[in-house]
Amino acid sequence: MPGSALDRVGDARLDPGWVRGLWSGEGARLLRVGAEHRLPLTDEGGLRFEPPAGEFEDQRHLLVGTVDGMGVFAVDDPAVPAPTAVGRFAVTGLGDTERDIAITALALVNWHRVAPHCGICGGDTIVREAGHVRHCPACVRDRFPRTDPAVITAIVDADDRLLLAHNATWDAARMSLVAGFVDAGESLEACVRREVFEEVGVRLAEVRYVASQPWPFPRSLMLGFAARAVSPDIRVDGVEIDRAQFVSRAEYDALLAEERLGTPTSASIAATLIGLWRRGELPL
Ligand SMILES: [Zn+2]
Repeated sequence: MPGSALDRVGDARLDPGWVRGLWSGEGARLLRVGAEHRLPLTDEGGLRFEPPAGEFEDQRHLLVGTVDGMGVFAVDDPAVPAPTAVGRFAVTGLGDTERDIAITALALVNWHRVAPHCGICGGDTIVREAGHVRHCPACVRDRFPRTDPAVITAIVDADDRLLLAHNATWDAARMSLVAGFVDAGESLEACVRREVFEEVGVRLAEVRYVASQPWPFPRSLMLGFAARAVSPDIRVDGVEIDRAQFVSRAEYDALLAEERLGTPTSASIAATLIGLWRRGELPL
């Protein structure tokens, strides 16, 4: 995250004594991550941290990193007290550093929730490296946090109109960009072309990578692309996408003004890509 002051201390966190020292050190903070990605918030909408209490527990307390040399920890706590907000909405109002902390804490907690057992032998694994590794003693193997890559694409036609699609499960007003998960053994570029053709029947000319965004709900990494359609003809799949259309900037603004367009949350890569298109800055 561009303006984030979070230091992931990738080397220092290998030293358990150093990590324990951070836990009891000055200015240390703990963030509780609740069920269903809920985060505790202050009345002003910032993250509600607390000072770490009790002994450091290396199987439960996860080191997110440091800010100004002081430790920031996370812990899985399904009973985190109110007020809380669902993570994907909570993160939109945060500054860069707090958003980085929240996203990293969510990614770590979500991974530990589903990774207690070894994927090879099924045995119990133990947490190492301040929460960034799980080790299987039977296989003598380390396991690392998992991320599922997904692509999202801003598609424009020859007239620089943007393709907006409506997912069949969304509110009627919401339209966004075409997105989908990368298949096993598939390159990102091939995934962009496949997903777009499957969902809206559009063939692509150039495809350019733009930017990425971690989206740990529960564990995606969104990879944002820009692409030029070979033709403006659309054929929606009718299952995942039930309608789609190319819109000009003027049409987009009119839809927004008439509140006939639900926009993606401001912290999302979709909003970033759409913003680039509105400013004429997609790299095509
Ligand atoms: Zn094992």
